[in-house]
Amino acid sequence: MRVSDLKIFDEDPKEPLKNFIDGEFVSARETMDSIDPSTGKVWVKIPRSKDEDVNLAVKAAKAAFPSWSSSTVQYRSSLLMKVAEIVEKNLEKIAILESRDQGKPINLAKRIDLPRCVHNFRFFATAILHHTAPSSHQDVPIRALNYVKHDPIGVAGLISPWNLPLYLLSFKLAPALATGNTVVFKPSELTSVTAWVLMHAFDEAGFPPGVVNMVIGTGAEAGEPLVIHPDVPLVSFTGSTIVGKRIGALCAAQNKKVSLEMGGKNACIVYPSTDLEKAVPMITTSSFINQGEICLCSSRVYVHETIFDNFLEKYVANAKKFTVGDPRGDFTLGAINSELHYNKVMSYIDLAVKEGGTIHCGGKVNVDGDCHDGYFIAPTIITGLDEKSKCVQDEIFGPVVCVMSFKTKEEVIDRANATPYGLSACVFSALSDELHNTASQLRVGTVWCNTWLTRDLNMPFGGTKQSGMGREGATDSFHFFTEQKTICIAL
Ligand code: NAD
Repeated sequence: MRVSDLKIFDEDPKEPLKNFIDGEFVSARETMDSIDPSTGKVWVKIPRSKDEDVNLAVKAAKAAFPSWSSSTVQYRSSLLMKVAEIVEKNLEKIAILESRDQGKPINLAKRIDLPRCVHNFRFFATAILHHTAPSSHQDVPIRALNYVKHDPIGVAGLISPWNLPLYLLSFKLAPALATGNTVVFKPSELTSVTAWVLMHAFDEAGFPPGVVNMVIGTGAEAGEPLVIHPDVPLVSFTGSTIVGKRIGALCAAQNKKVSLEMGGKNACIVYPSTDLEKAVPMITTSSFINQGEICLCSSRVYVHETIFDNFLEKYVANAKKFTVGDPRGDFTLGAINSELHYNKVMSYIDLAVKEGGTIHCGGKVNVDGDCHDGYFIAPTIITGLDEKSKCVQDEIFGPVVCVMSFKTKEEVIDRANATPYGLSACVFSALSDELHNTASQLRVGTVWCNTWLTRDLNMPFGGTKQSGMGREGATDSFHFFTEQKTICIAL
């Protein structure tokens, strides 16, 4: 069925969604509920896949590998371009589903999630046409020509989280397939619907059966069987640090190739020369957009003591401009993704008070009407916490930010580096040497200077310390999803 003909765009599905295995939509034996976080009500039933479903999907992907891996890059590229085109054509309708499943405002899904997903498919579909590999001519002990060939590896196991469902999935699917691997992927059980729509786009684009397979289910029941399956030689995971470390250990035991994109507790440093009129709206967005549910959100803001009061006043005023409500309406922020996560975020706000913090704005929001039982939290700004407090150290992954003052560059760099995480950071200053010096000493994968979330897919992306292992991006994803082979020809 073509994506544009899917009934789910017009009415909530009466039947449970299905897995996509070997080019067919197939039911799992059991199903489970998927909740609309803005209403707190079940809106769709999804497969609760187990080992048996994963085994079928891996079997199909393994069987499809010889033919797919030996197809031309032009062919693979053209199919991925078709997927991009189909998603783009249905962007508005898919954005509504993404919002319904995740809790984010429809306007955000339309503006960011879906366009970036389309861009990712186009980027990796075209990047694959331009990769080159080194060659070397040697003279001793014999004359020979050496060159490198990048071979696809096999069945890639891809596991993604709930915060940017389709967008983060596209970072894995597009390069895995472009490089000639077949895939079995598991979206988050909390946000599987747009992945299911995407499988219709792959079908419509004409992907051969078995090249792309999707199993929906929980991490323990479907994710782990995929990770440990002996016919899955590489695993790409995005999610929490605790799960990522478990997956890393499981992969190490079988010597699998693994890439881990994990949690963050990102610092934002604001130096005195910063133009606050320009910077504060950007910092506010970096803190709260998508309900603060982006691994790259600023959650610790360090402001130089000489501008602290001025900054705080402007920051709180900007945060209060963020409206919270029905994701279908004209609001800046929607619902927190699940009740469990809502309770976690609220528990940290309560803890902040116990830890001696001052709450300047935010907390629970009651929304009337259909969203009465949804999970809503306003941008929450906390000061007065000790560097070692749990609110400053733990990843909260919601619209909650701790603001602290600093005196010197050396001190703030030490403090910014003093969490177990190392995903990203922001630095704001009008002085270029201050930007360069600070950026070079921060132990993170990405530093944004006077900007935030500006992604150039040619650049490596990933985390250090407990935030990840490996990098994604044009060259890095190419290397991850292929095995380099050196071929030597005697001349
Ligand atoms: P999560 O780790 O709970 O789940 C992520 C995925 O892993 C889900 O599909 C889940 O079902 C699956 N999973 C869970 N247990 C598993 C297991 N034992 N074996 C295999 N799969 C398993 O994370 P989440 O709550 O969905 O997402 C939020 C986290 O993701 C945050 O920590 C956030 O920082 C992180 N994140 C990181 C990045 C990044 O690029 N570094 C991007 C987005 C989100």
